[in-house]
Amino acid sequence: MNFEFTAEELEIKKEVVDFIKKESTPEIVKESESHGDIYGAPEGRKIIQKMAARGWLTPTWPKKYGGMEASETIGYMIREEMGYYGLPFGFIAAHMAGPTILRFASDEMKEKWLPRISSGELEFALGYTEPQAGSDLSALMMEAKDMGDHFLVNGTKLFNTSCHIADYHWLAARTDFDAPRHKGVSMMIVDLKSPGITINPMITMADWQTNEVSYVNVKVPKENLVGDKNKGFYYLMAALDFERMFPLGRYRKLFDDIVDYAKETISGGKPLAKDPVIRQEIAQVAIEMEATTLLYYQLAHILDKGDIPNYQSSMEKTFATETAQRITNLGMDILGSYSQLKDNSKHAKLQGRVEHSYRTSVVETIYAGTSEIQRNIIATKGLGLPR
Ligand SMILES: Cc1cc2nc3c(=O)[nH]c(=O)nc-3n(C[C@H](O)[C@H](O)[C@H](O)COP(=O)(O)OP(=O)(O)OC[C@H]3O[C@@H](n4cnc5c(N)ncnc54)[C@H](O)[C@@H]3O)c2cc1C
Repeated sequence: MNFEFTAEELEIKKEVVDFIKKESTPEIVKESESHGDIYGAPEGRKIIQKMAARGWLTPTWPKKYGGMEASETIGYMIREEMGYYGLPFGFIAAHMAGPTILRFASDEMKEKWLPRISSGELEFALGYTEPQAGSDLSALMMEAKDMGDHFLVNGTKLFNTSCHIADYHWLAARTDFDAPRHKGVSMMIVDLKSPGITINPMITMADWQTNEVSYVNVKVPKENLVGDKNKGFYYLMAALDFERMFPLGRYRKLFDDIVDYAKETISGGKPLAKDPVIRQEIAQVAIEMEATTLLYYQLAHILDKGDIPNYQSSMEKTFATETAQRITNLGMDILGSYSQLKDNSKHAKLQGRVEHSYRTSVVETIYAGTSEIQRNIIATKGLGLPR
């Protein structure tokens, strides 16, 4: 197997990196960091729409829907570079809902939504979790009553990140209360400005805003139903498999900066990087970052074959997010007491990113399914262990 990029792929990488370095601003990077790297806030929209115009937001999609028909490896590489240079790299519409629409929705729906997603015009927010339905999403109870030409939606969602900056809700709601739990759910796209929707902020330990979103008699046109009614749970599971593909980009940059810090900082008359314990720790994390990349390449390979990765996405998500924690712990060890300082302290090192990443790397092992749930999926779907 050849792990090297082709000359053409390296050319695209160079173009992407040159573009980001030229167009990115500290405001965009700051905004992305404060929104959990999720697309939708105003500064990010400006640069991502320019990237989208070059086909870089949805490089793997068919050309007729705004893609480049490129390999998933290129898609990964572009996203990794966006994260590395501090741009938004979490795209609900382009990377989670869009690929699900591409595989399961009607041609009419594809033609209506995909070009607007691939141009970066629209962003979605994920509407899955409810107070009683987190790890067990099949317990969701938000009601979508079939009224003929529309659904009437009532209920409450929790932890719905970016609803306050997105345009549409990628919503899972129950359309049949008599059917077995997995068979009564439908997916639909809801305009977040619809009358009857209220969005209340919930601030996480990472400082990012997620939301409680309540629906009171919200009308959703029938044409916004994704695929078939009552088959939504299967679409939701596929969308989660896409969501769990986690690029390390931002943490890879942090790792590089921590290594530079260890090389440049003198302690006891010699650089920290000469300390044998620190060298061992740095090398160990480097191995784990490399393993994360290989796990991601496996996902790219599965997608390029036309399949959707399942327990393999769970493996990559678990390993990547836990590697992110190990990168942050490395920063804590090397920066010592400085690592606890926020970027507003004049003594802060590396713009306080170790302190902030320490907090972000906790919530990343929770969203899209906790690490315990990912390990359950690996055990049952990957290894055939009993449920
Ligand atoms: C920052 C952040 C952003 C989020 N963004 C979104 C979003 O945009 N949209 C959305 O819909 N949701 C979102 N979520 C919700 C997230 O997906 C849920 O929080 C997560 O799935 C866990 O559900 P819960 O919080 O209800 O915890 P619970 O399901 O109550 O779990 C509590 C604990 O029990 C463990 N546990 C539960 N069941 C099992 C089991 N069977 N085996 C072993 N352990 C188990 C869990 O691992 C966890 O440690 C977000 C969450 C966070 C923290």
